[in-house]
Amino acid sequence: MEQAKDIILRSEKIVVVPHTNPDGDAMGASIGLYYVLQALGKKATIVSPTDFPEYLKWTDASKEVIIAEWENAKAKRIIRNADLIVYLDFNDLKRAGILDEILSSLSTPSIMIDHHPYPKEFATYPFTDISASSTCELIVDFIYQCGWDNQLSSIAASSLFMGILTDTGGFAHNSSKPDLYRVVGMLMAKNVDKDYIYSKVFHQFSKDRLRLMGYALSEKMVVLDSFHTSYITLSEKELADFKFQSGDTEGIVNEPLQITGMVCSVLFMEKDGFIKISFRSKGNFPVNEIAEKFFSGGGHLNAAGGRSNLSLEETVKRFESALVDYKELLMEETQKLK
Ligand code: 5GP
Ligand code: MN
Repeated sequence: MEQAKDIILRSEKIVVVPHTNPDGDAMGASIGLYYVLQALGKKATIVSPTDFPEYLKWTDASKEVIIAEWENAKAKRIIRNADLIVYLDFNDLKRAGILDEILSSLSTPSIMIDHHPYPKEFATYPFTDISASSTCELIVDFIYQCGWDNQLSSIAASSLFMGILTDTGGFAHNSSKPDLYRVVGMLMAKNVDKDYIYSKVFHQFSKDRLRLMGYALSEKMVVLDSFHTSYITLSEKELADFKFQSGDTEGIVNEPLQITGMVCSVLFMEKDGFIKISFRSKGNFPVNEIAEKFFSGGGHLNAAGGRSNLSLEETVKRFESALVDYKELLMEETQKLK
């Protein structure tokens, strides 16, 4: 901690990197920390491997983010010139997507703050707490431990609150530890407009997005009753029919878990020439293990992601055959839900 604090204080140019396709936690953490670094007099820059959804763009800082997939040369130049790099919300450089190569090639000091299991060793100062709700929760702790609470503005606190809100699904999961509410209390004391952030994050969808959700649930949800599992497939054409925008499919995968006894829910989405997969589960059913073993991915026990280069149909078949070995565990977990 002291060493990480020291290196931040000694550095001038600090680059903050969230994971590829940043979610609310990755972006909330990056923007929150960016404002604190600025308040400390640092030249901070957020370099994101890819763009991020509109509903996360409600701060001035979000307009300053360098998107590497659009401005690759500039992103690389800024990273090469950095005194310090801070990795947020990931623990494997592969998750830095198109920035993996340059980041792996540099020996710039780095800090990693993250809450995913199985961290890889690449950062100079790694901070991992897999019991934390979110990276944003860890950042708040870090800021207070460094004694920088005066540098935490209302907008920075709001951004960090957004990450906690999104990674817990509005305090629905990963949010049972009392410590989390101490952190939330500290943020609220910074004049966070909770209702505004809630509405920005959860109530800013287009008509098409809501219809896509309806279509996915009514026409595309397949329930494998004996496996207590459901899945939804969405092809590139179906997404186009609903004028898909980044972020539109966020949350769809959680919905089937509302069914009594449902243990596992999966969304297969055809996008950019491959299948992006989102997994969610309840209890001890390890979707991160399935994502890692079968779909080059990973994540948390109950929320994970992966990818497949097979067709939608073949990807689903691969998933169904992977499930066979988990039938007993699925049965045990569904019993616990009754
Ligand atoms: P989502 O389904 O929201 O895209 O991802 C859920 C969680 O799974 C994320 O918070 C992240 O932790 C993890 N995740 C998603 N995609 C990947 C991936 O390709 N690799 C790894 N290691 N984790 C992923
Ligand atoms: Mn996170």
